[in-house]
Amino acid sequence: MIDLSIVVPSYNEEESLGELTAWIARVMQTTDYSYEVIIVDDGSSDGSWAKVEQLHQADSRILGIRFRRNYGKSAALSEGFAAARGRVVITMDADLQDSPDEIPPLMDMILRDGYDMVSGWKKVRHDPISKTLPSKIFNRVVRTISGIKLHDFNCGLKAYKSDVVKTIEIYGEMHRYVPLLAQEAGFGKIGERVVRHYERKFGHSKFGIERTIKGFLDLLSVTFMGKFGKRPMHLFGSLGSLMFLLGFLAAGWLGAKKLWFVYHGASAPLVTSSPYFYFALVFMILGTQLFLTGFVAELVTRNAPDRNKYLIAQRIEAE
Ligand code: UDP
Ligand code: MG
Repeated sequence: MIDLSIVVPSYNEEESLGELTAWIARVMQTTDYSYEVIIVDDGSSDGSWAKVEQLHQADSRILGIRFRRNYGKSAALSEGFAAARGRVVITMDADLQDSPDEIPPLMDMILRDGYDMVSGWKKVRHDPISKTLPSKIFNRVVRTISGIKLHDFNCGLKAYKSDVVKTIEIYGEMHRYVPLLAQEAGFGKIGERVVRHYERKFGHSKFGIERTIKGFLDLLSVTFMGKFGKRPMHLFGSLGSLMFLLGFLAAGWLGAKKLWFVYHGASAPLVTSSPYFYFALVFMILGTQLFLTGFVAELVTRNAPDRNKYLIAQRIEAE
């Protein structure tokens, strides 16, 4: 095992790769750590791959993975994580916005201070306001929902214990939620470090404003899967039962009222003229549907191949 794997997702960043790897080499020279750089070329249409091959020729510690097409940053990270051989894994954007100077202090936090993962915090950010403002709101929401005290979930510069990246599964566009995934997997010691952030030197950002919307949808999925992914009935079943019960009570109230009128010989109003009738109708139908949704979801999770997979940290076994 080597000390460090640096995973660099890269999509059309050919101008930056040479400078980035040279900078990394310069920083790593000041340390004794053995390392590898894994550049994951996410289906670039520029000359990125030729550049990666050339860099590998010059320095065998620079490795590459090339996707046949563009799959997205999460996919690139996921493949990079699978290939990483280091005790520590650091991810870094390819566009020179993240600084390799942060590598040694990040490694210290993992190896010496015992953090499971450390996220960078671009406290002073060199991006347009159209990006920084949504990001502020986004981070606040994620912080509130997840309870993880980080300021910058989406920072590309992060460091992990090898265990963490080999355990968690990033898919879709979940790279924003790696801290949540790590926490759900039981890696609770999550730290933060203020990092320097640079303006983009070459090329342009690969994400537009639509990332905010996608980001929030993904947040819902992550929190839902974390809480109820293995027991959907607890959510849908309780909600459904509650709604059905309310509807049933409303119907009961109507029925009782009608009987009372009839019993006293008074002319009873039509049940359909009462708002409770519509409550009863809607609540009982929705309640049944929620309940059935929970039941079907339960059947689906029962069939999931990993339904009985647990993350085991340690074990003492018979000799
Ligand atoms: N990236 C990628 N695949 C994509 C989009 C982006 O590998 O489909 C990489 C990109 O090359 C960069 C990193 O992810 O190294 C962050 O992207 P970008 O700099 O465009 O994001 P921003 O800094 O604007 O948040
Ligand atoms: Mg960038």
